[in-house]
Amino acid sequence: MVDEQLRGRGIRDVRVLRAMLEIPREEFVLQELRHQTYGDEPLRIGYGQTISQPYITARMVELLELGGDERLLDVGTGSGYHAALLGALAGEVISIERIPELAAIAMDNLRRTGLDRNITVVCGDGSLGVPDHAPFDAISVAAAAPRIPHALLAQLADPGILVIPAGTRMDQELRVVRKREGRVEERGVSPCRFVPLVGSEGFKDNE
Ligand code: SAM
Repeated sequence: MVDEQLRGRGIRDVRVLRAMLEIPREEFVLQELRHQTYGDEPLRIGYGQTISQPYITARMVELLELGGDERLLDVGTGSGYHAALLGALAGEVISIERIPELAAIAMDNLRRTGLDRNITVVCGDGSLGVPDHAPFDAISVAAAAPRIPHALLAQLADPGILVIPAGTRMDQELRVVRKREGRVEERGVSPCRFVPLVGSEGFKDNE
């Protein structure tokens, strides 16, 4: 997975590559799909949700340019795998999931693998961020948004980086939003497809 899907496709950050080697992805995958753990595709995790393809997870983490001390917000905990990677690369991670059963499964996965030391999982609407723990040096959103949620931008520190898939329900672009000296710059990185962000600043029924 690391050689072919990550290095081979341009993931260069050695800390990200090392973390992807060390974290046991199979512990975050459904028992019956474990034989597909290191495949080049998203896998279902129950409740209509998925764990992202390894490459897209690595790319999102790399784009955050983590140095090791950051306080981070992870929106869309799912299985907890992405949070585990972030925890290995940053100082503190607050991870928010809207489906209570998945939040419980993620907490269990993180505890069982001993990767929960600096990760707090909360259950709620992550499109509104987690104001009690803000500001965040970096924010990662693993569900597709129709636009950049205002609340997340407000909770991003200066300097800070937000990585989020944004677009329509069917097609999105991975976007990097950088806050620096009071200014906000946004750029698109690559096409992608995620499950929708549901909630106050997520997709409306008519979107
Ligand atoms: N990062 C996850 C992992 O490593 O397994 C996969 C994330 S999955 C692609 C997207 C997740 O976002 C789903 O678990 C979904 O329930 C969650 N989600 C969608 N809208 C949300 C919201 N408003 N707040 C929190 N989580 C949300």
